[in-house]
Amino acid sequence: MNILLIMPHSNPKRSFFSKFQYPSSTLQQIAALTPSKHSVTLIDERYKDIPFSSEYDLVGISALTYNVNRGYEIAKKYKDLGVAVVFGGYHASLMPDEVKNHADSVVVGEAELTWPQLLIDFENAEMKKIYTSPRVVKSEEIISARHDIGVFTPFSQAIQATRGCPVGCEWCAMNRVEGKKFRARPINEVIEEMKSIDAKTIFFADASITINPKYTKELFKEMKKLNKKFECFGNINVVAKDEEFLQLAKDAGVTKWYLGIESISQENINQAGKSTNKVSDYKKAVQNIKKDGMDVTGFFIFGLDGDTPATFDSTLEAMNHLGLDEASFSILTPYPGTPLFTRMEKEGRITNYNWNDYDEGKVNYTPKHMTKDELLEGIRRISLEFYSVNNCLRRSVHDGTMNPIKILTRFIANMSIRSFYINEKFPKS
Ligand code: SF4
Repeated sequence: MNILLIMPHSNPKRSFFSKFQYPSSTLQQIAALTPSKHSVTLIDERYKDIPFSSEYDLVGISALTYNVNRGYEIAKKYKDLGVAVVFGGYHASLMPDEVKNHADSVVVGEAELTWPQLLIDFENAEMKKIYTSPRVVKSEEIISARHDIGVFTPFSQAIQATRGCPVGCEWCAMNRVEGKKFRARPINEVIEEMKSIDAKTIFFADASITINPKYTKELFKEMKKLNKKFECFGNINVVAKDEEFLQLAKDAGVTKWYLGIESISQENINQAGKSTNKVSDYKKAVQNIKKDGMDVTGFFIFGLDGDTPATFDSTLEAMNHLGLDEASFSILTPYPGTPLFTRMEKEGRITNYNWNDYDEGKVNYTPKHMTKDELLEGIRRISLEFYSVNNCLRRSVHDGTMNPIKILTRFIANMSIRSFYINEKFPKS
């Protein structure tokens, strides 16, 4: 069969910034699960136009919530051409009853045990409407992605060493899809997959690489031999305490950590159930990473139930005090299928069901202690303040580096994020 796998982009008129979002290995994993007798083409719409044509036997679309409406548009075009369409990914797993109205079939949850069967059934004209993984995929069953196709940028490729997160934050969609059961792939398989990647930088598309430090330390020791650079998500509880872990990360080639700081209010953190975060550990966590010469991006969510208009300035002050290299600003988003969505719906607080707006830059619910406008204006104001030209310059030289390439790279990265916030995420209405 001739199979086309697509990751839609919410705005097919791609902007400069859409190319710099985090890489994904999802399509490459599905390609690896597809028997070699079939031909597979991958299209990530952030980088390439979709070839609408009836030459394909089957089209697979993997969508998140914010881009699922674009996925539905694409599905309709292929169905009009007489091509069968299958949906998978986050939104399909969270909202299968909605998605099945737009598809010939829907894959719910992990694909390892369902996608190969779906292909057999499709060839036999017996494809079912929904395929749900019969059980949680075992560590050794998690597929190594193909990196010989679907390489859209030479700079960075994604890999997944682990799946699942036991923490269970109220807002987290990933946790609903991958589940709470943590699984770590055999280290030799992860290393072999890394060796198949040409890009110099590898991005861990894992929930967090700190969930099982013992496993990750062994992985870091092996990664060291590859002479590559790595970027990964981690949690406060480990990086604030385990200095050996960070030394091994540094030696392995990790250059950047993404930390889910989320909020500077312990009350907010507790309400969300983010048990990895103690506000009193934030400073130490950032210091530990920077001591070893790695960069830190802190992720923050605004609009949590304990937030007030005063939260913006106090968080901005904390961001500067922590010494972050970059910060990510998001508006709380009640993704459908999450406990947060269920609670807010019960409280009558969901105000917008247009999934296009579920991009963490819009307010889709009634905040508890401020108006929607106060939330939008507050986050816009402090994101632009954090990324003011002066602050971008200051952060580029903050560690006293005289390396002009490092300074320039940091400055360009900071200014690009500023531009993204001004023009795309929080544009002035
Ligand atoms: S720690 Fe991260 S991945 Fe795990 S449930 Fe919370 S937000 Fe999701």
